[in-house]
Amino acid sequence: MPAHQAGTRVAVDPAVAEPDGCPQTVDQALEWVLTDPVRAIAAADRVHAAAGPQGDEALAAQALLVRALACLRAGDEAGSHAALTQADRLPACASDPRSAGLRQHMQAQLLRLEGHNEAARSVLAALHGHAEGRPTIDAFHTVITLGIVQGMLERIDESLASFYAALDLARSIGGLPLEVNALNNLGAQQLDLHNLDDALPMLRQSLGGALRLESRRLEIFAAGNLVQCLCAMGQAGEALALARQHLIPVIRGDDPPSLHRDEEIANALMDNGLHHEAAAYLRREARTDVLTNPTTATRAWLQARLLLAEGQPREALELCLSLWHLMDDDSVMPADRLRLCEFTAELAAQCDEHRTAYVWLRRAHGLKEQLLGRAARARFVSLQIEHDLRGARRERDTAQAAAHQQAMANAALQQQIAANEALQGRLRALALEDPLTGLGNRRQLMQWGAELIEQARGTGQTVAVALCDMDHFKRINDQHGHDAGDQVLKAFAGLARLALRPNDLCCRLGGEEFAVLMPGATEEVAARRLQALLAEFTKLPFVGAAGAAFAASFSAGVCECGVAGENLPLQALLARADQRLYSAKEAGRSRVCARTPPEAPGAAADYIESASIAR
Ligand code: GH3
Ligand code: MG
Ligand code: MG
Repeated sequence: MPAHQAGTRVAVDPAVAEPDGCPQTVDQALEWVLTDPVRAIAAADRVHAAAGPQGDEALAAQALLVRALACLRAGDEAGSHAALTQADRLPACASDPRSAGLRQHMQAQLLRLEGHNEAARSVLAALHGHAEGRPTIDAFHTVITLGIVQGMLERIDESLASFYAALDLARSIGGLPLEVNALNNLGAQQLDLHNLDDALPMLRQSLGGALRLESRRLEIFAAGNLVQCLCAMGQAGEALALARQHLIPVIRGDDPPSLHRDEEIANALMDNGLHHEAAAYLRREARTDVLTNPTTATRAWLQARLLLAEGQPREALELCLSLWHLMDDDSVMPADRLRLCEFTAELAAQCDEHRTAYVWLRRAHGLKEQLLGRAARARFVSLQIEHDLRGARRERDTAQAAAHQQAMANAALQQQIAANEALQGRLRALALEDPLTGLGNRRQLMQWGAELIEQARGTGQTVAVALCDMDHFKRINDQHGHDAGDQVLKAFAGLARLALRPNDLCCRLGGEEFAVLMPGATEEVAARRLQALLAEFTKLPFVGAAGAAFAASFSAGVCECGVAGENLPLQALLARADQRLYSAKEAGRSRVCARTPPEAPGAAADYIESASIAR
């Protein structure tokens, strides 16, 4: 009998209770429900205890519902009922989406217990329809239970699809107990369908996982199915070795019916010719679990084989014939019926009852066709589902990889854009900067200067414009060297930066000529500031290439925009300032000139000219 372990009830095993280090989330509690319900109950209780003080009613409801599920799994129906009643008293049980889902799942389990598999199936199928919106582990529980119910209702394709979906979910969560459960259910289902090639590796994996989890329960389920599968495949030696290692010493006398494997053990013993030992197992009372298929046909078949081995073929035949009604009993697995049929025919032939042998052989033939058809169908459906799942997984992986690549490309692009912008910024700055003095160049003056004037006009401010030109600069170069000339230019720039206000704009127009824009300043104010700058500048001591000390000076012409409603553009203002610069040069250099001088220098009152600074 293949044991759908997820559909059977299990015993409370005090040895596995471990209050310390117990999981504390609903997810963790749910992970243990199928494998280790006692541990799940302890975990659910801890979650419940934590939910109270937090005032988290939804969490309390979830914990109680997990407890109800785990109790049911542990065979404690009264405990399950109590937890469910307690949960139902909380409004969150209906209003909290997770609780509502768990409550419906619980409802389906209760329907199964009452034998209403069709009703249970429709509840679970509806719940499975909302799998996307539920926590993955909740969806896993629903789909694995759905698979079991579908299997019992002979909806084979659907059942396989559900188990594969459960396996996929288990793997996506990464929980070994879940994966072992899914594998065992899937393997058991394939075994039922006589698709032994697919069943074997799944059951082997399931047993390996059970051992890693140190779960006695899962070990018995997986090993029981595996022994049965190996016997059906004719691998009697390995079947018996497994039974001797994972069933005989592991199953306890006081274990519940769902954990007994007398038939599987007897089968393995018998297949190895150990009839005497097998007989001991068959003498035990049959222990059938209410939620799984009856073992009657298997038992009868084994007992008949035993009688034959003991030299009583006629008794064996009579036993088999007395069970003719099992042949049409749908609750008996087709594989079990087939074995019984074939053996009955064989016994009849041995007893020279050829007519009977013929009848049973024909029956066996029909069953075999049916069984092989199911196995082939199962194989086909499995391949198709696996292929679909692989495709879906591949699509998901491809989409993820593409998204990842896109993100990387975007990040690289952003980085490149930022680098380009920085570079462009630097280039822009360089394009507007004079490399010798670090001041702005003519281009900057034209760009920023025009803006500055416009802004000032917008706010009704004046802007003073000055042009400064080094005096006798050619002579400085000639007498003290070009480097000394450069030093003079740099010194002027340094001083101008210190003396001018942050809003002023000072640029080198080229050669030894500089322009200064002073927003908010009248030409008188500007002239005074430049006068002060000139005074400082002339005090600077320079040293020429030959070591000779010298001083430098400049001449400046200043004008202002905005006077008398004039709205001159920058170029015109610069031209006016240049005229005044020329006047300053004419007047003897080392001076600042504002207002256009009259024909005779010094005659006009509005002609401002600084005293010539001696050099
Ligand atoms: P003035 O007082 O009339 O302005 O006489 P000046 O000698 O200063 O005028 P001029 O225009 O005759 O000479 C300007 C000189 O500035 C000529 C040029 O060699 C020199 N010069 C231009 N650019 C630079 C530079 O970047 N560094 C140095 N050291 N000299 C420069
Ligand atoms: Mg010049
Ligand atoms: Mg000059």
